Amino acid sequence: MENKKPKSKETSKEPAKELKEKLFSKKNNTSKIFTEAEQKKADKFCEEYKRFLDLSKTEREAVAAAKDELTGAGFLEFKAGEKYKPGDRIYRINRGKSIIAAVIGKESLENGINLLAAHIDSPRLDLKQRPLYEEAELAYFKTHYYGGIKKYQWTAVPLALHGVIIKSDLSTVEINIGEDESEPVFAVTDLLPHLSQEQYKRPANALIKGEELNILIGSRSFKDDEGSELVKLNILKLLNEKYGITESDFLSAELEAVPAFKARDIGFDRSFVGAYGQDDRVCAYTTLKALADVKKIPKKTGVVVLTDKEEVGSDGNTGLKSAYLKFFLSDLAEMQGIKLRTLLTNSKCLSADVNVGFDPTFPDVSDKLNVAYMNCGVALTKYTGSRGKSGTSDASAEFTAEIRKLLDDNKIAWQTGELGKVDMGGGGTVAMFLANLNIDTIDMGVPVLSMHAPLEITAKNDVYSAYRAFGAFLS
Ligand code: MN
Ligand code: MN
Repeated sequence: MENKKPKSKETSKEPAKELKEKLFSKKNNTSKIFTEAEQKKADKFCEEYKRFLDLSKTEREAVAAAKDELTGAGFLEFKAGEKYKPGDRIYRINRGKSIIAAVIGKESLENGINLLAAHIDSPRLDLKQRPLYEEAELAYFKTHYYGGIKKYQWTAVPLALHGVIIKSDLSTVEINIGEDESEPVFAVTDLLPHLSQEQYKRPANALIKGEELNILIGSRSFKDDEGSELVKLNILKLLNEKYGITESDFLSAELEAVPAFKARDIGFDRSFVGAYGQDDRVCAYTTLKALADVKKIPKKTGVVVLTDKEEVGSDGNTGLKSAYLKFFLSDLAEMQGIKLRTLLTNSKCLSADVNVGFDPTFPDVSDKLNVAYMNCGVALTKYTGSRGKSGTSDASAEFTAEIRKLLDDNKIAWQTGELGKVDMGGGGTVAMFLANLNIDTIDMGVPVLSMHAPLEITAKNDVYSAYRAFGAFLS
């Protein structure tokens, strides 16, 4: 039987193509849609971003770098009780580990604020309070890992040591060693494959155990034939000469071992940034920059909070479960003689945190329809959580639509992003703590490959799209 062909191929095909154009939601690959000028801007933006990453390997360093950025952009330290007028730029630091910055808007705070929240703590190896020991004439630091890490990834990589030691006279010694080429680095050792038969039988999450994350720090002995622990003694002698500390000073120290390498471009086309701590300093930098770059006085007061302790559940006085953000906003409300609850109820927030980027090597963990893709723009995440949306703030359809419109109106490359298939695992952000204050909140952030690994990967165009999205939200 003859196959009846339509008379004109064109007329039968065109409507479907046009209709699809009209009805289907599309994924936008930024590298196809960015103009040359836009691409240049994105690449340039990421040069500054990489510089920020290199300066900000701990929450304290991120606060210091943020403060520099802010003071350079005309922000002054907030004084409670002072009257601020529209256009004024202020910041407040909480215990050196979190920072809030604001640009006062034209409208009354009764109408609420536009809030951006990102975190500046990242997974790492913290030194224990009595870290130093010697075994078989090798000296080590014992660690307690911070945040969700795949422990085996932290062996056999160069580590730098950052942090503070508060001595018994309450003076502070700042430590930053292993970043400069001339300085030594440190490392956790792993077993050679030749002798790993037994290790391989362990479940993957115990391939390296927590108590095996010991950092090698030296092996030369103090020159004396008498006595034990002479390698440890030699290390303490060096530390005493360099920093004026004794072993007891570790008791009141916060020392963090972090990957020693610097942020680099990844790929022949240099499309990615590879660096430690991009979760969530990528959103910290882009929100901060968006606020610092606000040109016209915004209608609503714009606030950015860069918080600590997200990776361990946001508890503690520098994490977002603490009242420090509420206290700051309460000081703002008082300044205009309004109630804090009115300010909060009318506020809107983007919880700015990273999301998983689709990894074709591990496709099974993601729902291809709902996962965020690298290079396809900033990811808007209506809900996170696990086991049936537990532990999440599920943004309302109304607020989601509002943000969707904002992104479209400003021609910002964006996509939706769900953290993994249903029941595959999951995770959370600070969104719920802000939503619990009765603020309209939704998650937005940059897709990441190898999240929580020593080397995390983002796409430059997504980083730039996040910056533009946060800027649009604030203006
Ligand atoms: Mn995060
Ligand atoms: Mn994280």
